[in-house]
Amino acid sequence: MAEKIGVYVCHCGHNIAAVVDVEKVAQYAGTLDNVVIARDYKYMCSDPGQELIKNDIRELGLTRVVVAACSPRMHEPTFKAALERASLNGYLLEMANIREQCSWVTENTQSATEKARSLVRGAVRRVYYHRPIEERVVPVNKATMVVGGGIAGIQAALQIAEAGHKVYLVEREASIGGQMAKFDKTFPTMDCAACILTPKMVAVAQNPNVELLTYAEVQHVEGYVGNFTVTVKQKPRYIVEDLCTDAVTVLPLVF
Ligand code: SF4
Repeated sequence: MAEKIGVYVCHCGHNIAAVVDVEKVAQYAGTLDNVVIARDYKYMCSDPGQELIKNDIRELGLTRVVVAACSPRMHEPTFKAALERASLNGYLLEMANIREQCSWVTENTQSATEKARSLVRGAVRRVYYHRPIEERVVPVNKATMVVGGGIAGIQAALQIAEAGHKVYLVEREASIGGQMAKFDKTFPTMDCAACILTPKMVAVAQNPNVELLTYAEVQHVEGYVGNFTVTVKQKPRYIVEDLCTDAVTVLPLVF
């Protein structure tokens, strides 16, 4: 089945239209393969702008949509939702950024318009090959592993733990603290390094959400985001941790 593509070129008030000849871009879009409708409109993200797209999807049976406007970081979710409200899969959308990449980077109407035409041509070509995607919700293990118990690892572990998530903090030495534990003062404030580090070492050791694995090294990682399996090798300590009543109070894993 031949795809039916709709192209919508936004003025963004004067943001785009003051530099890019949006009418020309829309006219050009109308000549491209599989484009059945090409319009320009003052504010595509406004309610009437979105209505234009939705009506065309319903009335013209559009199967793909290109919006030439601002960065997709700004309004891709807006237009994706508009497609879905008109019963078209939201992934059948492509955006051409003719604001940040055209009108905001030159005052030359001819070159901005030429580039906008080129971006729209590319977007029309690309959207032709889009496939609908169904979103799925999958269970995610929110536990996090931080590898390296220096000041950066300690701080990261603390912040994640304080956000309520389980953290495994893996350190290959017998104690956390890393290089900072060896310094006297820290640049640029020349604060006492131990005064900054030791409270954090204690906090991380005492946080119930943090599981410290010192004298340990990551051997193997497999899986993917939200579903990792990590093999950690913990070296022998020659001590029964539960029976150690001395060093455990301040730094439980320094033996
Ligand atoms: S869609 Fe983007 S470019 Fe168009 S009016 Fe809205 S913010 Fe401006």
